[in-house]
Amino acid sequence: MINLVLPLWLPTVAMTSRGEGFPVRRVFCIGRNYAAHAREMGHDPDREPPFFFTKWAEAVVPTGKIAYPPETEDYQFEAELVVALGSGGHNIQPADAGAHIYGYACGLDMTRRDLQAEAKKKGRPWDVAKNVEQSAPIGLIHPAADVPAMDVGAITLTQNGEVKQSGDLSDMIWPIRDVIAYISRFYALEAGDLIYTGTPEGVGPVKPGDRLSVRIAGLSDLDVTIAGPRA
Ligand code: MN
Repeated sequence: MINLVLPLWLPTVAMTSRGEGFPVRRVFCIGRNYAAHAREMGHDPDREPPFFFTKWAEAVVPTGKIAYPPETEDYQFEAELVVALGSGGHNIQPADAGAHIYGYACGLDMTRRDLQAEAKKKGRPWDVAKNVEQSAPIGLIHPAADVPAMDVGAITLTQNGEVKQSGDLSDMIWPIRDVIAYISRFYALEAGDLIYTGTPEGVGPVKPGDRLSVRIAGLSDLDVTIAGPRA
């Protein structure tokens, strides 16, 4: 064993509905996977296919409080279905994708929308807009064996009790099997990877004190409160 110059840190661990831990390896997020949301962001879903970007595993946090991050005046919620992989591989075929899924959870892809708009305008990367500390809250991960197929079902987000996003998983442009197949063309997917599968229309800004709830039929709710800025 070599001498470490820093204490070794533990991976991020998400919780399952069976009370077990799910070590998180990487986080992939799909952009513009619901046509109505692509349109509300000013894009034509018939001409521009979905795509993906990434977040650090450290961005994943459980139900609870998340910080309002610095350097933004427009921090926004995006309610999403999260797919948790139990195995992976390169060039996974859509028909085989289901076998790699460990389970599903409710998630949020929190976004510095003002910095995203600036990055789009200048043709710059989205890192500071998307890869934000505590920006990927996740609810309990339900093993696939315990829930119905997640290709149809309501997905809703309420902000302080008011419904802001209301969509259906069947509206995804790329269904889950195609998302897994697509990402696996570029990366060897691995056990522990999470995929945030995109958000329906109705995204909007938060402020400290707001309560967000994400609900997807068959899964545990994700409840998040926006705290003040991090000290
Ligand atoms: Mn998103």
